[in-house]
Amino acid sequence: MTVLSVHNPATGERIADVTADDAASVAAKAARARAAQPAWAAQPLGARKACIERFRNALEADVEELAQTLTAEVGKPIRQARNEIDGLRGRIDFFLDAVERAVSPETVFADAAMTERIGHDPLGVVANISAWNYPYFVGGNVFVPALLTGNAVLYKPSEYATLTGLHIDRRLHAAGVPEAIFATVVGAGAVGAALLDQPVDGVFFTGSAATGKRVAAAVGPRLVRLQLELGGKDPTYVADDADPKAAAESLADGAMYNTGQSCCSVERIYVHERIHDEFVRHFVATVAGFRIGDPLADGSYIGPLTRRPQLDVLDAQVADALAKGATLAAGGKRIERAGNWFAPTVLTNVDHMMAVMRDESFGPIIGIQRVQSDDEALALMNDTRYGLTAGVYTRDEARAARLLRAVRAGSVYWNCCDRVSPRLPWSGHGDSGVGVTLSTYGIQTFTRPRAWHLRPA
Ligand code: NAD
Repeated sequence: MTVLSVHNPATGERIADVTADDAASVAAKAARARAAQPAWAAQPLGARKACIERFRNALEADVEELAQTLTAEVGKPIRQARNEIDGLRGRIDFFLDAVERAVSPETVFADAAMTERIGHDPLGVVANISAWNYPYFVGGNVFVPALLTGNAVLYKPSEYATLTGLHIDRRLHAAGVPEAIFATVVGAGAVGAALLDQPVDGVFFTGSAATGKRVAAAVGPRLVRLQLELGGKDPTYVADDADPKAAAESLADGAMYNTGQSCCSVERIYVHERIHDEFVRHFVATVAGFRIGDPLADGSYIGPLTRRPQLDVLDAQVADALAKGATLAAGGKRIERAGNWFAPTVLTNVDHMMAVMRDESFGPIIGIQRVQSDDEALALMNDTRYGLTAGVYTRDEARAARLLRAVRAGSVYWNCCDRVSPRLPWSGHGDSGVGVTLSTYGIQTFTRPRAWHLRPA
């Protein structure tokens, strides 16, 4: 029996030991899911919706307990933890409302001799391998529509968000989802790999590009549905007609919310030279106002990093940037206290020779680069192997539209950032992944279309 220890990233303390799965227990859960799935799919949609609605209500009733656990194990400031749990309820409301629209059979042709209809069948048993940074969001984006559409789900929470995963597991079962239909497998990468060895009908992975590529290599030859929601190096351009203060305040939040650990965090900012200095001044002032501290305290805005090794990544990005001529406008180093703390960091005079402008930082650090024109900004925004989100701040809608059409990204933002809507598809280009979650596309992805050709005798 393997034990997974859970540590509080704000203090370094061990807060729990959890029994992990092994290859045999993963295989047993997969077999039970396979056996149980047809009966789950055969239930009327209304019965599955009722389970998910009860789960949603449990999230509402238990928000404080769930938020405390989330904060204790990932270090997310408590208000942001509550926001995430409330946010999942909003996403569930969308899924409950949209599922019929997305997967009801559709008659696309009918005459006296022939009816043609599109049906949507569940994939069967799907693997949901999840990240820790927004465990409610990235897990819920998969397991909620997967369950609603009649699939069984083998859910592997990140090893950094196991307690939250187990909270989700218990509440789904209490809400009426059978244990065989939603089965949680506990463990780190090796348990994820063991899950991929099972004969699942789809793999829905959220995590880093490096792991995503390993998952793709393992799953590819099996020819099953594969979705990869991966990282980003999300750029924003602030044009010369933008309000520098408003843009700086919005983008400082976009860069530092969740301590910079969002897949769609603003990771690179390009500012037109005419307003660059004023923008930087407001940006640094906004960051200076962010309260750093105990994530359980209500006013804290910046918490610890969840994963300790990321401190080394941030140290290296700062050192590399400074060695190549960047200017440190704020932060730049670890905060000396127990746990994984890094000061919010602003680097200016940066360029694309520097890792901070090329590699995902996933922490409270931002590079701000001066540009001379829209076209220079556009070329720099597209100079990346990622393509998750991108934004433009300008008063001119047509100018924004021209730039946002030309940028390679799954989601584009005009005068906003770091925003996800359940009504819109969430997808990436390049190393940001393949496939779609959210919107009606993100419901249909858990089904396969069946073409019905119906000729009356
Ligand atoms: P990670 O790649 O380290 O781990 C993700 C999951 O994969 C974990 O559950 C882990 O245990 C599992 N895993 C590790 N090795 C595996 C293997 N060989 N086979 C199967 N599973 C394996 O990522 P992370 O640190 O948990 O998450 C952070 C990353 O996720 C960032 O890059 C972030 O941008 C990205 N992310 C993307 C989105 C999105 O929607 N695009 C959302 C959230 C996070």
